[in-house]
Amino acid sequence: MRAFLATLALLTATAAAFAQGFSALDTGTPIPYFIHDGVAGSDYRPGDRQLAVWALQAWDRLTGGKLRFQPSSESDALIQVHWVPAAEGQYGEARPLRVGTRRGAAVYIRPDTSALGPDIARATRTDPLMRDTVVYLTCVHELGHALGLSHTSDYRDIMFFFGFGGDIPEFFGRYRRQLHTREDIAKLSGVSEMDIARLRALYP
Ligand SMILES: [Zn+2]
Repeated sequence: MRAFLATLALLTATAAAFAQGFSALDTGTPIPYFIHDGVAGSDYRPGDRQLAVWALQAWDRLTGGKLRFQPSSESDALIQVHWVPAAEGQYGEARPLRVGTRRGAAVYIRPDTSALGPDIARATRTDPLMRDTVVYLTCVHELGHALGLSHTSDYRDIMFFFGFGGDIPEFFGRYRRQLHTREDIAKLSGVSEMDIARLRALYP
């Protein structure tokens, strides 16, 4: 029941977000971003900032450098990354925002992997790279929404929605197994061919 309610809440939150509309961001000028410090109780770690930057760089690389993300002040940022405490097994969330006339998004990452169910909790407790994998891929997914990508039902995609089911620990495990060091995350986007095709349709 609890899991069902959590899934329902997730579906509702997702439907609400898309009703408000994510779509391709304006790339006429570089996209300013701001990464907040973690709030108390979020289990944010200083290295998480780097994971978010690698996620932004991955998406930019896949558009051939069209997005040109640029660090900015909080008030100017079209992409805002927040680190927030665990809630109902959620990994993260994205919400549209507006700065002047430009559209952007706030993404909320929940880096407390001990609260994401017993399998993820166990896998991340003893393996720092698995923990970083979960936080990094969550950043990629939520930033994908920020860039206008919606969910898919294909388990291979980073935009796959966990509400469709499937082996969630393996979703992260297949990425984790490609890592030898943390720095490898900067080189391995974690994004599928179909994710890339959908991204390039938004940013031709
Ligand atoms: Zn999502």
